[in-house]
Formats: sequence, C-alpha cells, structure tokens
Amino acid sequence: MKSFKKELWFNIPTRRGFVHITHDIQDLISESGIQEGLCLVNAMHITASVFINDNESGLHQDYEKWLEKLAPEKPYSQYAHNGYEDNADAHLKRTIMGREVVVAITEGRLDLGPWEAIFYGEFDGKRDKRVLLKIIGE
Ligand code: ZN
Repeated sequence: MKSFKKELWFNIPTRRGFVHITHDIQDLISESGIQEGLCLVNAMHITASVFINDNESGLHQDYEKWLEKLAPEKPYSQYAHNGYEDNADAHLKRTIMGREVVVAITEGRLDLGPWEAIFYGEFDGKRDKRVLLKIIGE
C-alpha cells in the first residue's frame, strides 16, 4: 500500500468564505499516482471546515444566512468563549459544517457523485490556515 500526504494553504481576506478545492485535490491525487484507494481531506484548524456539496453560488449565500441564524457572529459578548477571543461563532459554524471528507479514488479520479464538489469553509479568516490531504491506496 502506498501513502501520500500534502498540505494546502489558505489565507482568506474576509472573516468567512468558501473555496472550491475539487480540482486542487484531483491534481494532488494525480501527483500521488494512486489509482485505487481513499482520500482524506481535513481542515487543520478548529474554525474552518472541509465539506462536500453543490458548487452553486445561491447555496453558498444560503449557508451564510443559515449559519448566521444558528450562530450569529455578533454580539461577541453573547458567547462564554469570547473572553479573550471573538471567534466563538466560528467554532460553532465549523462544528456544523464538519471537519473532513473522505472520498473514494477509482481509476486515479475522485469518485464523486454528479453534483458533488469539495469546499474549504473559512469562518475566522485573515490568517494562514492549512488543509491536510492524505491518500492511501495502490
Ligand atoms: Zn476561539
């Protein structure tokens, strides 16, 4: 069995944002040379997510509205976590949107459903953050 590890770095200029990373992940799978296996992609930070859903801008606006209803950024004072920080909402949003995805690799390609796309979700941006990619297979 082979294994392959890489990191992707992000610095989102706004507090929140979504980045489509399907093609970056596929490029790394191609670089790995692995034809059959599993690919794990996870955010290495507790205020960011990796998730799979539709690559459709309306849906991304809906996420922003929905997440702000569930865990509004402000007022900062509403959260116990915000004694020394202001990012309690970002931790909660990350929990809902998830830490990682695992996708099958078949014949050297991401084996995704027809409308599935992989995204990095940032909830406390304006700093360097990374995503881990780990592939195991043959
Ligand atoms: Zn925090």
